[in-house]
Amino acid sequence: MLAIRELPFEAITIYSSKSFHGLEVLFRINNYDYQFLIGKANHLFPINVKHKFKEKAVCPFCQKKIYAAPLGQQLCLEFQKNLPALLQYFQEEYPDAF
Ligand SMILES: [Zn+2]
Repeated sequence: MLAIRELPFEAITIYSSKSFHGLEVLFRINNYDYQFLIGKANHLFPINVKHKFKEKAVCPFCQKKIYAAPLGQQLCLEFQKNLPALLQYFQEEYPDAF
C-alpha cells in the first residue's frame, strides 16, 4: 500500500468533469503528472488514476514505461490499489472542492 499522506503532492487542481458526472483531480508528484477521476452519484466513488506524463518515463509507483499523454495515458496500477485512500485524502485536504 502507498502511504498516500506522505506523498509530496503538488499542483493539485480539482474541477467538475465535462465528460461525466463527477470530478477530476490533477496532481503532480516529483514532476510526474496524474489524473484522478471521481464519480458522483449518491456519494462519491473513485474511478481510476491515469498517468498524464509530459514525456516518456518510467512511473516510480507502478514501474511501467509510460509514453507522453495523451498517447500513453493508461491506468497507474499502483494508485488503483489505493483509490479509497486517495479520495479520502483529497476530501479531507480540500473539502471546499467536493
Ligand atoms: Zn504508474
